[in-house]
Amino acid sequence: MSPTRQFFVGGNFKLNPGTLQAKKDIVEILNKADIDTSAEVVIAPPSLYLLPLQQILRKEIKVAAQNSYLKTSGAFTGEISPTQLADAGIPYVILGHSERRTIFNETSDVVAQKTRAALDAGLSVILCVGETLKEREANQTKQVVEDQLKPVVDILKENDWSKIVVAYEPVWAIGTGKVATSAQAQEAHADIRTFLSSAVSSSVAEATRILYGGSVTASNCKELGNQKDVDGFLVGGASLKPEFVDIINARR
Ligand code: PGA
Repeated sequence: MSPTRQFFVGGNFKLNPGTLQAKKDIVEILNKADIDTSAEVVIAPPSLYLLPLQQILRKEIKVAAQNSYLKTSGAFTGEISPTQLADAGIPYVILGHSERRTIFNETSDVVAQKTRAALDAGLSVILCVGETLKEREANQTKQVVEDQLKPVVDILKENDWSKIVVAYEPVWAIGTGKVATSAQAQEAHADIRTFLSSAVSSSVAEATRILYGGSVTASNCKELGNQKDVDGFLVGGASLKPEFVDIINARR
């Protein structure tokens, strides 16, 4: 918990089932809810639904794309252009999610190039990193996360970091119901901040929001959100439920 870094909560809808109407129903709940307006809140629906949901969302909540390509145009069937997202008024994109890294074979270099392209287009980026269970058990968490961040550090300039939110998402906690303990989250977040301080600058390390993601629920969010270096959450499953409101209000 930091008095200077604005609390951030992102809802990652992934490719979860549900019609446009079902997504609108979730938006209706958010629109009517008593939410902590000091928090920055973003929802990331499938790209097809970005514009219709953006049109009906209350102004305090923004939308994010779940992915964008490293090129802005050309013969890249099926890809999403960061400049076209920006043109559509979409302010954020999630990049480097573990599902993109593992299922779609996105390397940390590709994630870095996508991050560069997104920033050049004017988007802000929720940049995801995190270790697998095997890597944690081998005590490689710190190294794995640093290796994921390093190509991004190399490709960005110091002032680009004001448009980056880092999401630490241990792969073993995503969609499993097995949340990291608050001590595990705090340790990983503190390591990321220390890394940013040495690899970029102490002011970037101090200002950059680091979110925790992986089985966040209404019942575990308060304790996690009270950790010194936890600046918010990236929420999957629970972002599709009314309890997302309680997660947004975790700091109340
Ligand atoms: P989860 O997903 O909250 O369902 O574990 C988090 C994420 O993938 O961002």
